[in-house]
Amino acid sequence: MLEALLEAGADVVRINCSHSDHNAIRRQVARIRRAAMRADKRVGILLDLQGPKIRTGPVPDAIDLKVDDHLVIAMDDELVGSGLRVGTTYPAMADDVNPGDDVLFDDGALQGVVEAVHRDRDPKEVVVRMTVSGPLKSHKGINLPGVDMSVPSMTEKDRGDLAVGADVGVDYVALSFVRSAKDVEVLRAEMTKLNVDLPVIAKIEKPEAVENIDEILDVVEGIMVARGDLGVEIRIERVPVVQKELIQSAYKAGKLVITATQMLDSMIRNPRPTRAETTDVANAILDGTDAVMLSGETATGSYPLESVRMMDSIAREVEQSRFFTTTPIAEIPAPDGVASVVIRSACWAANEDERALVVFTWSGKSALVASKARPHGPIYAFAFNGEVLDQLALAWGVTPLELQDLRSVDDLIAAGIKELKRRKLVVPGDKLVIIAGSSPVVGATDLMKLEIVGEDA
Ligand code: PGA
Repeated sequence: MLEALLEAGADVVRINCSHSDHNAIRRQVARIRRAAMRADKRVGILLDLQGPKIRTGPVPDAIDLKVDDHLVIAMDDELVGSGLRVGTTYPAMADDVNPGDDVLFDDGALQGVVEAVHRDRDPKEVVVRMTVSGPLKSHKGINLPGVDMSVPSMTEKDRGDLAVGADVGVDYVALSFVRSAKDVEVLRAEMTKLNVDLPVIAKIEKPEAVENIDEILDVVEGIMVARGDLGVEIRIERVPVVQKELIQSAYKAGKLVITATQMLDSMIRNPRPTRAETTDVANAILDGTDAVMLSGETATGSYPLESVRMMDSIAREVEQSRFFTTTPIAEIPAPDGVASVVIRSACWAANEDERALVVFTWSGKSALVASKARPHGPIYAFAFNGEVLDQLALAWGVTPLELQDLRSVDDLIAAGIKELKRRKLVVPGDKLVIIAGSSPVVGATDLMKLEIVGEDA
């Protein structure tokens, strides 16, 4: 199935550490790499660290909570829930909350208000009066919107998961419940200890993160609009506008952005999505997202392949419409310098003269900038390092292709065109605009060539 999903258009696979132990991470990475090899495609692996997600403890039989029930949350993660008493994985909750604070369970399906906090008891207890009823089950998320939480940004589990991810060579690390740039620094420091330097995706799902988005964007390679928890942490009716704000901020900062959660939710159960869902995917793309993400649809749903095919086909449809516009050259987010002038010129040529863009890139940066330009045609990015190639899989419109590092630019271009022909991505007569660096160092893009694919090999 994994191989079929990649062939159907999936470019990046997320491993959600909330549902994976160390063995599972190792097994999944091996499977993804094997499937990518069989599909002959560069695939990015995103390790999504659980972060300080608060959950209920074990509840063997769901507790049926009614409005005005008083639920006692005890600061004990092993307490077996029954009656009107449950444990929690977050022992500092009793120190952080006060009477009047809202408490949401199970992505907001159940809600209550803190009525009393007993810090003198052992274990400490928080009493919640329920305002929205429903069954409360084991290990369900607890959200405390508006509460200033003392919880650290990385848990012991996150550190362990990161070490395994670094060992097996994932391509991106996502951090959940980021609040500020400081949270990202903690992750960077952990990576330094492990001797790795992976690109970081900050999951934006707390109101503090929405407020601090610019400082967060300064220290990450990308963000995820994590609409699941976001829709619980802020009023759900604000989610559409916050999504647009976040995508625009990421775009301007030249950083990657993934839009996630419930995109084709009904396809977990049905072979066809709702009209609202297809429209949601299309609108996220029109907002300027680089990637659209599936979660339950492909993780546990009955129609994973149909979901990826549908998402791919919605993306193709909307990108061909007149509503999908390329970025005006002056607005392409690129740092000043020769490279930026070359990339902008190439994007202009790609659009004006209907040329495919071919980028030879050391760090991947030139391809990322070209991607933000949203040119009409494809972007073929040749790189020489597996890590860069797999990271480029997340960028909009980029097909990462491997090439050996050859001695001269002419050799590179000839080898690149040969590879594009072998893969049937171009045919003789196709027009290309090629950019490259005349010296093999990062940021050295200084050369642009217009070429027509010839008949010879
Ligand atoms: P999750 O994150 O899938 O790990 O919950 C995404 C979200 O909250 O939207």
